[in-house]
Amino acid sequence: MNKQAIESAEEAQLLDAIDRWLKREVEPVVMQYDHEDKWPAKIVDQMAELGLFGATISQRYGGLGLPASTYAQIIMRISATWMAITGIVNSHLMLALAIEKFGTEAQKETWLPKLASGEVRGGLALTEPDAGTDLQGIRMTARKDGDHYVINGTKTWITNGIEGSCFALLVKTDPDADPRHKGMSLFIAPKLAGFTVGRKLEKLGYKSIDSAELVFDNYRIPADHLIGEVEGQGFYQATGGLELGRINVAARGVGIAEGALALATEYSQNRKTFGKPICEHQAIQLKLGEMATRARAARLLVMDAADAFDRGERCDMQAGMAKYFASEAALENSTESLRIHGAYGYSKEYHIERLYRDAPLTCIGEGTNEMQRIIIAKQWIKRNSIA
Ligand SMILES: Cc1cc2nc3c(=O)[nH]c(=O)nc-3n(C[C@H](O)[C@H](O)[C@H](O)COP(=O)(O)OP(=O)(O)OC[C@H]3O[C@@H](n4cnc5c(N)ncnc54)[C@H](O)[C@@H]3O)c2cc1C
Repeated sequence: MNKQAIESAEEAQLLDAIDRWLKREVEPVVMQYDHEDKWPAKIVDQMAELGLFGATISQRYGGLGLPASTYAQIIMRISATWMAITGIVNSHLMLALAIEKFGTEAQKETWLPKLASGEVRGGLALTEPDAGTDLQGIRMTARKDGDHYVINGTKTWITNGIEGSCFALLVKTDPDADPRHKGMSLFIAPKLAGFTVGRKLEKLGYKSIDSAELVFDNYRIPADHLIGEVEGQGFYQATGGLELGRINVAARGVGIAEGALALATEYSQNRKTFGKPICEHQAIQLKLGEMATRARAARLLVMDAADAFDRGERCDMQAGMAKYFASEAALENSTESLRIHGAYGYSKEYHIERLYRDAPLTCIGEGTNEMQRIIIAKQWIKRNSIA
């Protein structure tokens, strides 16, 4: 077998293992965990055993070193069953990516093996109560004090905030800098004295995984926790993983869109009205036809962006298109699937209500879809300028 054939055989084996795990371990318990909003400790341990906490971390640091195209397919599969648990891994891998891409060799050797094994789990702490889309408007400050920094401020909506133990923390090291992004820095922030969890945030969906407010009160960390050990690079570092982040969220959208379609496909063949299965009524066929096309188009857009990423090509516009389209597909397919289920779609005894509650998050995370379209349009005009 040539290298490509070996790689695709390994990919098939891995995807098969994920499918078997989902069927055996996740599907039977997802409804209970979601309704109880309970942390899925056993599932998290199993994800560590599968190597998912090191999925995109290089093999030299103990990870699986998977290409974006394989990782996206894993996320699609998991999201078709339970989107929320992909956040436990995705946010963690964005922290790892910032360290691997921009950290010093010492930082990579210290943190990446622990992140890859899942011994240390964490996420990305950018958003503040007054600044989400406008990240340069954050207020958290880090003041140099000898060979330490002292950090004060509050982050909010941080995924893994309670269960995680280490975060990539975006701060202002020079609050008066102009332009604002030049005064921003990114730190590796483990939970030490001065770093507390303010509160767990209650949500519409995306249950069981913790979203929290994090409070930093005279939090002191050694200066060697500054990623790359150079101030002023934080905005660039925090957004440097954007392409992969968008491909990941887009893959979640594909999973929900395909999962909602699968549920509707089965239900519409079982449920009968006026003497025949509802899938034989034209009104339902119109919905299924649109849903199947949307899910397929979303999948193709995500794989197109992931393949370009793996070839090392610039793919910000493709990743943005995939994120925008796939997340809207998740929203539309989950709504249509719920309607096909009739009253049962509104019941907590059927899976579709969870997909319906989880889908909107994909339109918000990694850049809202309002911003996404603006970014796509700007890139589009730039690449097709007539000047
Ligand atoms: C469940 C969940 C998990 C999250 N996890 C994390 C995490 O782990 N880490 C983290 O840092 N953050 C996280 N977030 C925060 C998320 O990234 C932000 O919510 C998102 O960036 C949007 O910011 P915002 O909520 O402040 O909305 P705002 O920025 O206040 O935007 C409000 C509305 O205005 C629109 N808007 C804003 N500016 C413009 C503009 N210039 N032009 C047109 N429209 C505009 C937006 O699209 C949106 O519709 C999470 C959020 C949720 C809900």
